[in-house]
Amino acid sequence: MKSIILKPKKEESILRHHPWVFSGAIASLPDNLEEGELVRVISSDNRILGIGHFQIGSIAVRLLQFGDADLPEDFFRKRLESAFRLRKTLELIRPDNNCYRLVHGEGDFLPGLVIDIYGDTAVVQAHSPGMHFERMKIADALTQLPEARIRNVYYKSETTLPFKARLDPQNDYLIGHFDGNIAIENGLRFNIDWLRGQKTGFFVDQRENRALLEKYAKDRNVLNMFCYTGGFSVYALRGGAKTVDSVDSSAKAAALTDANVELNFSDDKRHHTYATDAFKYLAEMENDKYDLIILDPPAFAKHRSALKNGLIGYRKLNAKAFEKIKSGGVLFTFSCSQVVTREMFRLAVFTAASQSGRKVRILHQLTQPADHPIDISHPEGEYLKGLVLYVE
Ligand code: SAH
Repeated sequence: MKSIILKPKKEESILRHHPWVFSGAIASLPDNLEEGELVRVISSDNRILGIGHFQIGSIAVRLLQFGDADLPEDFFRKRLESAFRLRKTLELIRPDNNCYRLVHGEGDFLPGLVIDIYGDTAVVQAHSPGMHFERMKIADALTQLPEARIRNVYYKSETTLPFKARLDPQNDYLIGHFDGNIAIENGLRFNIDWLRGQKTGFFVDQRENRALLEKYAKDRNVLNMFCYTGGFSVYALRGGAKTVDSVDSSAKAAALTDANVELNFSDDKRHHTYATDAFKYLAEMENDKYDLIILDPPAFAKHRSALKNGLIGYRKLNAKAFEKIKSGGVLFTFSCSQVVTREMFRLAVFTAASQSGRKVRILHQLTQPADHPIDISHPEGEYLKGLVLYVE
């Protein structure tokens, strides 16, 4: 195996088990190192720090293992077993819940890999060339996990792998085939479109926040903004909402929402879907129409360079909701931008509240669920932030 040598002092974060080696930390790279190859990382004073996948870009190595040992032959089997053991501890695998995140990248010590489970199908996303090359090994290990009962493995990395690596990944089944796509979350059924949908087809990360919303829904008029598959809408209907309006600019998302409402509450007259822009809908809607609003937009700041505009976006969006929500209303507001910290998000929402002149109290501070764990050595793994607010 080839080795990468670091500049002096650049081993410090790795000794604290941070799994990334930035390109600027590298003193010398071996010749002919290919993207996705396994490399050993060595400190300037010749200590072996670990083994990881090499990649061209700002993050040059994603470490899979620390220390001087070789990677064991059954590396993926062991890591996947440990990930599965955690999900069992979390009691996410039940007759009334068969969708969960099995692997959350660095949070499961598998940087560059995401795996969501929908019943007996695993949807695998590689974010690094190294994981792309290991995909068959990963798929085999998944179907061999005792108790997990995974029969089909769908690989979906066309949009997550670095474009420049020219890997030409094809979205396809690595093992098994399509045999139904209905998953169950907390007793509610969802059509998961892993073939055409965003991410792996569903935002598994909002499960607990949707369950909290259900408790607030009774007798309320609900607006689910940025509804995608209608997750929050279906929980609101089960929670006894008076009306639920779902809004998404994508007609495909609106259709997915309709299908999921239909699947759980056939012909329910309380629900309506609108395929339109969020800002337009908020600007045109009457005051006091809703007393429960969910704002779960796509990441407004995908990179650090977009941070300032992203924060302005969060402020404007929330200001509109504060302006229009009925007195005594509850607002569930989220940011999934990794570069927006909890404090920044709260400040943007606070500024919006203060501009609207409404009296606002924080009822809950929300985050990503436990099947999206954060490695304590890798704080970058935290991304989802939410506030539940009571608007006087
Ligand atoms: N709340 C959803 C996830 C939201 S993902 C859930 O629980 O599953 C973000 C959604 O916002 C996407 O479906 C996308 O189509 C939609 N979207 C993006 N920009 C929008 C805009 N300007 N107006 C309305 N919807 C938008």
